Amino acid sequence: MKKKILILGSTGSIGRSTLEVIGQQQDAFEVFGLACKGQADLLNQQIEKFKPRYVCIYDEGQKDKVNFDRNKLFTGINGMKAMIGMDAHIVVNALPGSIGLEPSLEALRCRKILALANKESLVMAGRVIAKMVKKSGAKLIPVDSEHSALYQLLKNIRKKELKTIMITASGGPFRKLDKDALEGVRPEEALNHPTWKMGQKITLDSATLMNKGLEVIEARWLFNIEPSRIRVIVHPESILHGIVELVDHSFIAYMANPDMKIPIAYAINEGVRKPLAISPLSLEDISTLTFHTPDLGRFPSLRLAYDALASGDSAVIALNASNEVASQAFIEGRIRFTDIPVLVEDALEHHPGQAEVDDVATIWEIHQWATTYTENKFKTP
Ligand code: MG
Repeated sequence: MKKKILILGSTGSIGRSTLEVIGQQQDAFEVFGLACKGQADLLNQQIEKFKPRYVCIYDEGQKDKVNFDRNKLFTGINGMKAMIGMDAHIVVNALPGSIGLEPSLEALRCRKILALANKESLVMAGRVIAKMVKKSGAKLIPVDSEHSALYQLLKNIRKKELKTIMITASGGPFRKLDKDALEGVRPEEALNHPTWKMGQKITLDSATLMNKGLEVIEARWLFNIEPSRIRVIVHPESILHGIVELVDHSFIAYMANPDMKIPIAYAINEGVRKPLAISPLSLEDISTLTFHTPDLGRFPSLRLAYDALASGDSAVIALNASNEVASQAFIEGRIRFTDIPVLVEDALEHHPGQAEVDDVATIWEIHQWATTYTENKFKTP
């Protein structure tokens, strides 16, 4: 029997790659539903090709542009939730930013297999999600490449054998720029990633290294591990994705080409490996793998993420919300690249501190507080 799959964020980079994997493994999957934010044209092409049973377009204003049976076409976050409540086996959450949280919670509530690419879900509600997974037996499989690597490595390692986990970072497009040069970088330069082709938000987060900060937070909840045992290591070739250090000082690393189809296929096949038509990894062609320590002086966002984790749940929520607002302001040309961490740090210093947040309403309250606080910092009166 084919597994029914629901893809949230189908027109984004992860969504498109998921459909490519499904295209290669048609015997295994049926596209149950597609949802996206507002790209009606691409959504229409996907509908034509993959013939989903249900469709949702988040942006109500785009509804008329979607060529689909009106009785099976939903809008908004409630439309997505309605689709999640139906009988898909797997929900791929590839929505960008905080909009992804509610669908993740709904998928876990409905005991779906959640293939999670939306890292903000775990950043905002890691404590809540960890509890839900433990209690309900719902399954969460990470799609983020580093976490997929670590998930696979940790499967075969006893807890008492583990010393640290390492998340690799490409270092982003500005890895070699000095502090002064960073002040002048333009949005189009920040949105051009050297090794990964991804959506706008995550590409910018990779340039500031906030993406790694969010990934450290993600790993903290996903693997129930103290932040002091999570290390970030810069590895520009993006071939090693996750590394574990064991108590005998041996390392086990996971290697693959930087192609998201690999972690996507692993997640939607629930850990069963199948042949994948992608370019194979050639170590001879790569020949050199390099590693170094991230420079927290030039890229303070990563330090801020560790600070927020040490400070508590509300700090992490504020960090994420403030970063979303500041990143958008930079993309719109309203602030400088180097202003992003300054604004985030300011929100962290002023947020109402709460060590543990385990209800969703409070999460949104803090999120809203930080959003407004940061917006007010660069608003022209
Ligand atoms: Mg990643």
